[in-house]
Amino acid sequence: MSSALMKIYHALPAPLRSLAASWHGYRLRRWRYGAETDRLAAQARERENWTPAQWQRWESEQLARLLTRAAMRVPYYRQYWRERRENGDAASFEVLANWPVLQKETLRHETASFVADDCDKAKMVCEHTSGTTGTPVDLWQSRDTTRAWYALYEARTRGWYGVSRRDRWGIVGAQRVVPLETKSPPFWVWNAGLNQLYLSALHVAPWSSAAYLQAIKKHRLKYLLGYTNSLVFLAQAALEAKEKLQLDVVITNGEQVTARQRKIMEEGFGCPVRETYGMSEAAAAAGECEAGCLHLWPDVGHVEILDDDYRPVPAGTPGRIITTGLLNFDMPLIRYDTRDTASLPADPKPCSCGRTLPVLADLLGRADDVLVTKDGRRLVQIDGIFGSDLHIKEGQIVQKSYDAYCVRVVPSAGWSQTDADKLRADLKQRVGDAAVTVEVVEHIDRTWAGKFRIIISEIKR
Ligand SMILES: [Zn+2]
Repeated sequence: MSSALMKIYHALPAPLRSLAASWHGYRLRRWRYGAETDRLAAQARERENWTPAQWQRWESEQLARLLTRAAMRVPYYRQYWRERRENGDAASFEVLANWPVLQKETLRHETASFVADDCDKAKMVCEHTSGTTGTPVDLWQSRDTTRAWYALYEARTRGWYGVSRRDRWGIVGAQRVVPLETKSPPFWVWNAGLNQLYLSALHVAPWSSAAYLQAIKKHRLKYLLGYTNSLVFLAQAALEAKEKLQLDVVITNGEQVTARQRKIMEEGFGCPVRETYGMSEAAAAAGECEAGCLHLWPDVGHVEILDDDYRPVPAGTPGRIITTGLLNFDMPLIRYDTRDTASLPADPKPCSCGRTLPVLADLLGRADDVLVTKDGRRLVQIDGIFGSDLHIKEGQIVQKSYDAYCVRVVPSAGWSQTDADKLRADLKQRVGDAAVTVEVVEHIDRTWAGKFRIIISEIKR
C-alpha cells in the first residue's frame, strides 16, 4: 500500500478499517486462488508419495527447462553466459553446478534484469520485500506462479494439519494494520476476503495480551499462524490467565521453535504446533509433518547444502541453504543463497508419516531476537524498515537499552543522509520514543552458524 493510502487507512474507525482490509482481501483471493487451486493441490499431495526416481526425473526435467530459459531469456544470465563464452569457456549451462551462486545483493541491484524478456510486467505482480535478512528485494511473478504457490500452501501448510483456507484463521504479522500509537483494542483487523483476523505483531505486550486472547475466542479462529516469539508470548499469557483456548493447530514461520517454546504454545493454545520454513522469494519451503519431521517441498525449489566456499557438505554437517526456485520461471533464482543454515540427515530413514519428501535435519536459521519497547511491546521481524527504496546492501537493528537503538547498515551507491533519516524515522515509528543512531559499517558479522541476524538485543532479560 502507498503511504498516502496507509494514512487514510489509519485515520479510519476500526469497522471501516475491516471493510478496507476485506476489500483488499477479496482482491488477493481472486489473484491467489482459482478454479485450478484444488486440482493443483491434489497433484501436490500425489507427489508427496513419489519414489526418489520419480522425483529425480521430474526435477531434472524442470531444471533443464528452467536453466535453458534463464540462459536464453533472462538478461542477467544471458549476459553472464555470453561473457563466459567470450572468455573461451565452453561449460554447459545445462549443468546446475556450472551456474554461479546468486547473492541477494546482486538480485537487489539487478532486479530488472532477472525478469525474462518475454514477460509482460503489466500482467505480473511485484512484491517489495526485505526478506528475512535486511536486504530488500523486488520480486516479480505471474498469476500462474502465485496460484501454483498458494495451491501448495493449501495442500501442505493447511492440508497437512486438517485446516483449509475456508476456515476462520488468524495471522500474527508485522503489517501495520492499526496505528502504532494505539493503546486499546482492536489491535487487529478482520479480513473477510481471506477469512482472516490479522493480528498486529507490533502491539503484543503484557497490557494487550488479554485482549488478543479474547479476540481469538470471539472470532472463533480455528488456527493461528505467525512468528514464534509473538505466539509464545500470547500462549504464555493464556496459561498465566488460565484462559482456555482450543485451536486445531498453531503454525509457526520465520523463526525456529525450541522445545520449551513448543510446550508453552501446545499448552496455551490447546493444540499441536507445526513449524514451517519458507521465504517471500518462494524459492524453497518446508513443513513439519504430524510425525515431527521437517519435510522439504522439492516442487518449490531444488535445495543444495553448501559450505561457505559453496562446496557440498556431507549429510549431517550444517551448511548454507542454496536453492534453485522451480515455481517462478519468469524470474528464475538459480543457486540462490538464502543465508539460512541447515543440514540433511546423516542417516535418512523413511518418515512414519508415509511421505517420501526429503527431510531437513536441523534448521539453524531464523533464531532472531526480539525487541522489547519501553511500553512493553514485543517486536519481532521488523525488518520492514529496510525498504527497497533505501540505498543499503544490508542492515541490522541492535537494541542497546529500552530506549536506545543502533541501526547498522552497509551502504550501497547512492547512500545519503536522507536514507539515514528515513531509517531513523521508520524505526522510531515502531519502537516509539527512543534514541536511534545509524552506524555505517563495511561488514555485518555473522553468528557462529554463519547465520545473519537482523535483530540483536543487548538487554539482559
Ligand atoms: Zn513425515
